[in-house]
Amino acid sequence: MIGIFGGSFDPIHYGHLRTALEVQQKLGLKHIRLIPLRDPPHRDPLDANAEIRLEMVRAAIADEPRFQVDERELKRSGKSYTLDTLISLHDELKEESFCLLIGTDAFRGFPSWHQPREVLMQAHLVVMQRPGEPRPAIYPERTVATSEALHASAAGKILFLPVTQLDISATRIRSMLRAGRSPRYLLPDSVLSIIQQRGLYR
Ligand code: ATP
Repeated sequence: MIGIFGGSFDPIHYGHLRTALEVQQKLGLKHIRLIPLRDPPHRDPLDANAEIRLEMVRAAIADEPRFQVDERELKRSGKSYTLDTLISLHDELKEESFCLLIGTDAFRGFPSWHQPREVLMQAHLVVMQRPGEPRPAIYPERTVATSEALHASAAGKILFLPVTQLDISATRIRSMLRAGRSPRYLLPDSVLSIIQQRGLYR
C-alpha cells in the first residue's frame, strides 16, 4: 500500500514531512507520494508557481527514500481532482492499493469533495488526528480501528491515526518571510535556501 499526500506545499515544511513519515512508519507503507497540486479547487491562487513548489518538495525529500514526489497533477491542466489522480495511479500501478492522508479538517469537508463515493472506491482514507481532536461523526460504518483492518481490503475504509502535533503552516511561514523574520527550523534548510535564492514570499 502506498500513501498519497496531496498539498499545495507553498512551501513544504516539517508539519508535512514529520506527519507523513509517522503515517508511513505506523502503517508500514511502501512509500508516501507527495503530490503537489496545480490548481486547488477550493482556494485562491498559490504564491509560488508549480515548478518552484516542485523544486522545493524535491529538495526537502532528496535523501529520504520513503518519500517520492509525483508530478501528475502539475502536468494535468484544469482543476486538480483527487479522483482523477487516483484513477491515473491505478492505471499506472496495477494491483497496488492506496490510502489518502488527510487532516481532520479536510476529512470533515470530505463529503463535499468532487465525487467522494467514487474516491472511496479507489482508496482508503487515513485521517491524521491531532491529540485531543474530536472525530467527526461521519462514515462510522467505514471506520476501522487497526492498520491490519486497513491492509485487509483494497479501498473504502477510514482509519484515524494520531500524529505528533506540529503547529506549523505554510501561511505562517509566508507571513514570517513577508515580515522579514526567519522561518528557519520550521522547514528544511534546503527549502529555505531555494526561498532565499529566488526571493520568494516577499
Ligand atoms: P497553507 O497554510 O498555505 O494553507 P498548509 O501548511 O496547510 O498550507 P498544505 O500544502 O495546504 O499546507 O497542506 C497539505 C496537507 O498537509 C493538508 O492535508 C494539511 O492538513 C496537512 N498539513 C499541513 N500542515 C500540517 C501540520 N503542521 N501537521 C499536520 N498536517 C499538516
